[in-house]
Amino acid sequence: MTISTSSSSYIFECCCGERFNNVVAASHCKKCRNYSVWGYTRYVVNTLTEEVVYGDMPSDEEYAEATAAAEQRWAREQAEWQQLQEEDAQHRCDELAEEIRQEWWDQLDAEEELWDIQDRLSK
Ligand SMILES: [Zn+2]
Repeated sequence: MTISTSSSSYIFECCCGERFNNVVAASHCKKCRNYSVWGYTRYVVNTLTEEVVYGDMPSDEEYAEATAAAEQRWAREQAEWQQLQEEDAQHRCDELAEEIRQEWWDQLDAEEELWDIQDRLSK
């Protein structure tokens, strides 16, 4: 009897290149949504037999089209993410400036109070 290691049973590869030990899990790969050009699990291949066990294998044309679309999608997502980061930084900057202003006013109040006390003491 041969004992197969668990890794050797991960023979089902989805379109983003992730491997699974069963077709159902492979066809629900979460990474495909982000990492495959299709935006979903288009197909799953049994790497032992090279057989398509889920979905269908795209033609080169389809693949080229999907790649172009995905690149646009990723570029847009990247730009959106960048803008979010910038907005976030700007917001944080405003907050910090406000905090500093507040601290400054508090300090000014404290100084005034100090002057008042000294003024009273000197009388
Ligand atoms: Zn995948």
